Amino acid sequence: MGDVTGIERTLVLLKPDAVSRGLVGRVLSRFEDALLKIVACKMVLMDEELNRQHYFDLEDRFGPEVYNAVAAFMQTGPVFAFVLEGVEAVAIVRKLVGATYPDQAAPGTIRGDYAHQSKAYANANGLPVANLVHASANLAEAKREIDVWFAEGELHEYRTLADRYVS
Ligand code: ADP
Repeated sequence: MGDVTGIERTLVLLKPDAVSRGLVGRVLSRFEDALLKIVACKMVLMDEELNRQHYFDLEDRFGPEVYNAVAAFMQTGPVFAFVLEGVEAVAIVRKLVGATYPDQAAPGTIRGDYAHQSKAYANANGLPVANLVHASANLAEAKREIDVWFAEGELHEYRTLADRYVS
């Protein structure tokens, strides 16, 4: 990504609901269509250690019930992890993903188009919010999360045809 100002990398996970529903291709296409570049990817069955590393502050933020529900959900099947690169990619990817709770996510966003569950429903039933996608919230979080998920050698630098319109 060289020295080009404004080019960022961000971590995305397609959660087990997205993978088991066969939405990997469709969701990836949305990011590719927006000219974001895939610079790393892998499929992983998370364990508790990786879940703790990834969601290190979730228990503090929401308490053990939510943490445990999310941890169990994230280990129900493999996740599809990848890193996207582009202009202000962190915020752009969050915009394409939509609001955390699918009932509040706008139509046209991934969470708004492929789910509808609310936080109230999830909490009343001890369920995780199955919202298909994780995307880093800010640049510092993106750097930390990319480090958790990928080794330096797994991150690729290459030119795409679309680069002439991006960088
Ligand atoms: P985001 O994933 O949009 O950055 P958060 O970091 O706030 O949102 O939450 C992390 C994940 O934890 C959410 O994506 C969702 O799957 C789950 N989650 C958040 N709040 C709740 C809740 N109240 N009940 C159950 N699961 C929740």
